[in-house]
This record gives sequence, structure tokens and C-alpha cells, in this order.
Amino acid sequence: MKARVKKDTCIGCGACTVIADKIFEIGDDRLAEVINPDKDNELKIGTIPENEKENVIDASESCPTGAIEVIENEEHE
Ligand code: SF4
Repeated sequence: MKARVKKDTCIGCGACTVIADKIFEIGDDRLAEVINPDKDNELKIGTIPENEKENVIDASESCPTGAIEVIENEEHE
């Protein structure tokens, strides 16, 4: 599973950085982003470790603007 924050939708409320504090942080632009995004992707998509998936789904469902995009991998995990 991968995830990213849609910067044009995020309002910087910080909820995701509390719910999934190992995955999301508030960046210099005061909007959330994935802490360790995959290399070479402008969208800052990050691969989510198995033990953080639930937190990321919680964060996504709790985001007031629906700014967290969860991308399910096609390959078998
Ligand atoms: S919960 Fe949503 S709106 Fe709030 S900081 Fe995270 S991505 Fe942005």
C-alpha cells in the first residue's frame, strides 16, 4: 500500500500527523506530507509499512477534506 497527501486539498489541520505520526508530518508549507516518500516522485507518494496501514486508513478516513490518497498495490503483499 502507498499513500500521498493531495496538497491542493489539505488544510493543514494536523489530524493525520497525530493518527499516523510515523507516516505524516506537516511540511514547510504547513501542509501534511509523507515523511519518507519514495524516491523520484514529485507527488511524494510513500510506501506504507504493514504495521502502519491501519493508522494510514484511519487518518485517511479522519481527514476533514479527504486529502489523503491511499493507493493499493496491485502486486500481492
Ligand atoms: S488530516 Fe487531512 S487536512 Fe488535516 S493535515 Fe492531514 S491531510 Fe491535511
